[in-house]
Amino acid sequence: MRDRTGEQVDEEPAAHDPRCDDGWIDRDGDNPQPCLTCKPHLRPKFERRHRV
Ligand SMILES: [Zn+2]
Repeated sequence: MRDRTGEQVDEEPAAHDPRCDDGWIDRDGDNPQPCLTCKPHLRPKFERRHRV
């Protein structure tokens, strides 16, 4: 497929959360979460241990 500039692109760009701020989603909010597009290694493996 081609993007609107006419360049060939192999696949759709990964959905990137528009709230992402320097790798964090809702960074200034009550419950910031790592942006898994920017920080895939931070994908949560465990239940959150701390409640806000
Ligand atoms: Zn991001």
